[in-house]
Amino acid sequence: MDDRDATSLSVLQRFQAQFLRTQASSTTTTHLTLETHSENSRAKSRAWVTTGGTGGIAQMHTGRASGGQTDMGSPPGVTPVQHPACPVCQGATTVPFAMTRHKYRSLSEDRARGTLVREFLHCMHCDACFVNPVNYISDEEAKRRYAEHENDPQDSRYVKFLGQAINPLLCDLLERFGSLTAQSVSSASGADAPSQPAPAIRFEEKDPESDRAVSKVLSRLSGMDYGCGPGPAVSYHFGERWNANVINYDPTFYPLDLSPYDGALDFVVCTEVLEHVAEPQETASQLLQLVRSPMPRTDGTSLPSGVLCIMTGIFARKEMPRSPFSRPEVDAFLKWAYTRDPTHIVFYQASTLELLFLRAFNRLSSSTMRFSTLSVRIRQDPACKNVFLIDLVPKAQVNESV
Ligand SMILES: [Zn+2]
Repeated sequence: MDDRDATSLSVLQRFQAQFLRTQASSTTTTHLTLETHSENSRAKSRAWVTTGGTGGIAQMHTGRASGGQTDMGSPPGVTPVQHPACPVCQGATTVPFAMTRHKYRSLSEDRARGTLVREFLHCMHCDACFVNPVNYISDEEAKRRYAEHENDPQDSRYVKFLGQAINPLLCDLLERFGSLTAQSVSSASGADAPSQPAPAIRFEEKDPESDRAVSKVLSRLSGMDYGCGPGPAVSYHFGERWNANVINYDPTFYPLDLSPYDGALDFVVCTEVLEHVAEPQETASQLLQLVRSPMPRTDGTSLPSGVLCIMTGIFARKEMPRSPFSRPEVDAFLKWAYTRDPTHIVFYQASTLELLFLRAFNRLSSSTMRFSTLSVRIRQDPACKNVFLIDLVPKAQVNESV
């Protein structure tokens, strides 16, 4: 390498570093070609993917981060491609790591076609995995697929599945709002009403005594099942069993103007939704906007905020965070049944989900007055890695606890 080449590469590396820092556009072209004044084939940066013959279940690509390497020229039989930006963080450093051809027998269109090709990419910034948008199925196909989901509210297996999210939410709501009930009773009767410990309650097991205690709390609250699908189960159970007011919202099956609920809800349940969403930042912002802010009391404490209950499949990586996928990880990812649903397009690590809501919150706090004095708290349920509780707390409260 002569001096001029070295200078060129140094300039190129600075450009690349700047490019990687900005990661601005949601449709950033990752076939990045930077040509310096020395103009030679080495002064170009490209991401490559082999074409043709993808064949079976998975094809490993070279794992080269787009925009991050200096290409040594165009190898024969190889075509430069544009990699889509990450739908979670908009990062441009995305790496295709697998391509599948599956038969989705439940889709009539797929029965006719026989196969559905999906390319999976990995974001080196936030560790999200996602399906290349060119491989998305149509809205009509997705709607038919959602209608095939077996989400019968009375199906005991589905109730048990849903319980993974509802049980920690119930515990949280009873702790969060249970003391409010006791206080209201106290002020109404003029007597001291000691707050009761939260009863052990399980969504999948009815118990008249604990159900009465839960009803006292939940019947005072307003909630929403965000993305409830065609057979809304949460509103059915919460209404029938606990006399709670749960609004159904689903952009396909229960469309609704959400603006009247801005900052108005005590809880929002969002189960098995984020993996379907092409623009998760928009959804995360919308969810955070729905929950009620904490309200200061005269004694300096705060009435608690509303709470979000999120459930989505988490792919817990065994390798270092943000490292390229190893072959065993690719195999494990593709064996995961979650990746075989053609309506699932984004796959999260726990840290990916945290980053999603932190970013959404930071955007809101810089643009919306009511968020500017708050912080967001994100907790993963210790009993189920797929469940997260998210709420808003006063900034001072976070500082005190640090
Ligand atoms: Zn990302």
